Amino acid sequence: MARDDLLIIGAGPAGLSLSMAYDGSSRILERAGEVGGLCRSVSFGGAVFDLGGHSFHSPHPEVMDLVEDLMAGHWSGQRRDARVHFQGELIDYPFQNSIDQIADPIVAADCRRGAPTSTAAADAATNLEDWIQGRFGEGVARHFMLPYNRKLWARDLRRVSCEWVSERIAGAEVQAVKTPNGAVVPKRQPLRSTSEIGYPAEGGFGGIFKTMTSRCGPISFDQDVTSIDLNARSVRTAGGATWNWGRLVSTMPLPLLLSAIDGCPASLLAAADRLETVSMKIVMLCVAGPVADAPQRVYVASPDMPAHKIAFNHTSSPNLRSRPVHAIMAEVAYSPDKPAPADDELIATSVDWLADAGLISSTAAVVEARVVDLVHGYPVYTHERPAIVAAARAWLEPRGVHTIGRFGAWAYVNSDACIHEGLKLAARLKAPWGAEV
Ligand SMILES: Cc1cc2nc3c(=O)[nH]c(=O)nc-3n(C[C@H](O)[C@H](O)[C@H](O)COP(=O)(O)OP(=O)(O)OC[C@H]3O[C@@H](n4cnc5c(N)ncnc54)[C@H](O)[C@@H]3O)c2cc1C
Repeated sequence: MARDDLLIIGAGPAGLSLSMAYDGSSRILERAGEVGGLCRSVSFGGAVFDLGGHSFHSPHPEVMDLVEDLMAGHWSGQRRDARVHFQGELIDYPFQNSIDQIADPIVAADCRRGAPTSTAAADAATNLEDWIQGRFGEGVARHFMLPYNRKLWARDLRRVSCEWVSERIAGAEVQAVKTPNGAVVPKRQPLRSTSEIGYPAEGGFGGIFKTMTSRCGPISFDQDVTSIDLNARSVRTAGGATWNWGRLVSTMPLPLLLSAIDGCPASLLAAADRLETVSMKIVMLCVAGPVADAPQRVYVASPDMPAHKIAFNHTSSPNLRSRPVHAIMAEVAYSPDKPAPADDELIATSVDWLADAGLISSTAAVVEARVVDLVHGYPVYTHERPAIVAAARAWLEPRGVHTIGRFGAWAYVNSDACIHEGLKLAARLKAPWGAEV
């Protein structure tokens, strides 16, 4: 087998964008039969689903320009419409900015009382639970932020660090950061009701990445990488094929990458095993119209609904809205600390809740349902995570191996950040072997 200068494991956003921007011969090995990774779309019953609610936005102008250029004439932009379902009512997202809309005056007063006047307590917090209490006060924490985040992260929030909150939680935003070499890098802003988002004008979110393949190097599908020999610079796949490489970039989950490498030190393997993930069941409901003019996303802290987030995918573009059937995705987080109910039960409880909440006309409106299981859904920012990822990279990179992407870098990043990382690594790898900048 001829050697590829650059071999990439995984045809998700990170692997595809790297292949697209790399100035040399490259090949992607992909385990699945199609591109897109977690950004794939699924169709059944005439409706279009993503693997959880997906929409596109980016603080990086070059990434926005790239995607708009790729999707030229096939792009649909709109303002995000997200709500919180709270005590039987829909109020605007995010909860902490919508206390005036809470119907129960006692609860509203509770949320206002004790609201911190400075960020000192939040700034001093070292875990998510303390950060939430410190930033929003006891009322907002107790009524929504703690139950919601416990549902999403599926573990004790004191085990979760708060290094990611500025990009994700309204009230913590930072506009830009300065790198050690003085460059100013724009930071992702937490989504609000005023955020502008984009989606393919036809079909699902995965269309962005299918389109990207026309600009990529060759992709070999059904190639599940199972072992890596650093001395021979080769990988083997489950089917027995061998592929040689000059440099290897992996976007597969970091613990799986390390355990595939012959001779990986036991200390690195043991550390990587301590990386934690939130797994996700995506309950996909095909609903025969008419569906109420639903918001795009509804966030739910109540334990009556297994999902913390519901995405009404038919609202993603005019084309999807015009279909006679509509796609609803309910995202249910699970972990060893919070096991998921059986799929049948998840479907039944979700459908009953949606009908009770008036978000579908009746349970009979659901004409087909499926559940997709994402073992790797959200990487968890435990206190140990940065040191584990840094140690793995410090061992891999001198051996010609890079690990990037959501589970390659174990980073809570969206597809736009994965594209950005792919583009940045392509530029870095332009330098001759051994002289990477
Ligand atoms: C519920 C949910 C909602 C989200 N919402 C949004 C959103 O609104 N907007 C947004 O932009 N992003 C969103 N994201 C994030 C986005 O899906 C990911 O950030 C992005 O897909 C990560 O890209 P990646 O290339 O790093 O990894 P992946 O998409 O995970 O791709 C990795 C690829 O590697 C392949 N692979 C794995 N192991 C092997 C192996 N051993 N051999 C060969 N191939 C292998 C996989 O099959 C996969 O195709 C969401 C994610 C989730 C889970």
